[in-house]
Amino acid sequence: MAVIEKLAQLITDCGFDAFAVMPAVKVTKMGPILERAKAEDRYPRFVDDDIAKRINPSALHQNAKSVISLAVSYYTGDPGPRPPLHGTLSRSAWGVDYHTVLNERMDRLISGLKQSFGAQECAKAVDTSFLVDRALAIESGLGYPGSNCCVYVPPYGSWVFLGEVLVDVELPVTKGEAADNWAEPIECPACVQACPTNALLAPGVIRPERCLSYLTQKSGSFPLEFREKLGSRLWGCDTCQQACAQNRAARPSRHREFEPIVGPHVDLIYLLEMDNAQFKAQFGRTSIAWRGKNVLQRNACLVLGNEGRSEAVPVLTRTAENHPSPHVREAAQWALAKISQAD
Ligand code: SF4
Repeated sequence: MAVIEKLAQLITDCGFDAFAVMPAVKVTKMGPILERAKAEDRYPRFVDDDIAKRINPSALHQNAKSVISLAVSYYTGDPGPRPPLHGTLSRSAWGVDYHTVLNERMDRLISGLKQSFGAQECAKAVDTSFLVDRALAIESGLGYPGSNCCVYVPPYGSWVFLGEVLVDVELPVTKGEAADNWAEPIECPACVQACPTNALLAPGVIRPERCLSYLTQKSGSFPLEFREKLGSRLWGCDTCQQACAQNRAARPSRHREFEPIVGPHVDLIYLLEMDNAQFKAQFGRTSIAWRGKNVLQRNACLVLGNEGRSEAVPVLTRTAENHPSPHVREAAQWALAKISQAD
């Protein structure tokens, strides 16, 4: 069996849906994109400031010769209608924490690379390293950039989790012209028009600090100007992915891990009454858990305020008076004021 076929078999056996291999060289196309974001004050404050490091696989693994860019799909169906007094979770948070799932699968892949491909030392990254997973996915030919700044991996659309394994052996590259994928047209405006906060300025241009996906995960006070735009989103935002025709035709995921554990809709009154132990029992296996209970309860108050139903008043009143977090208390007060305006 040819090396590439053997590698493909190993990667499939480890539970990945798609992969691409590139040499472990700098992703030059991403540098100007990030530099422009910096110059226009759109560079995310929550990532490493060192652009040269973020696009250089050798900064993570100095002996790396190849990068295997990997994708796992998570589209497990549509959420259905939201019941009253419930908040919506982004699809990426429905199931088991993808960091856990991908890390376990990458560990199996690294074992196989050492056993059968001569690798001595490997490194892995999924979302939490300084490397730009999206850049490696596009450069390697795994996917192409969408107008919504997500990576599209046919036939799974942008409903994919990305990661990469860096290997100290030369593996066959899977795409001859690495830059081809950067040249795909990204001119469709559907997601830009659908974005509720104008976080998407133009196809492929985002202001992350206006993005509800980021804001629902950020601790502290939720910015006033975006509270009504939040609508019923409890965690994350799928709007710009849902607006895309290609995503609506995406092949469903085969991975049961990403089917809903607590979502897709969460009972907000129950959520606001939860103690830490109940939160851990409900959300502990999901990617929401790392942020803790307060941020989710703050969001729950805002969603209840946006919904404007009087049934939420008792729990919001208790929250406004007794919650230990000042940000959750303030969000509950805001929600009570909104509901009283709606009466
Ligand atoms: Fe806009 Fe939501 Fe997409 Fe963020 S995730 S860019 S808020 S549509």
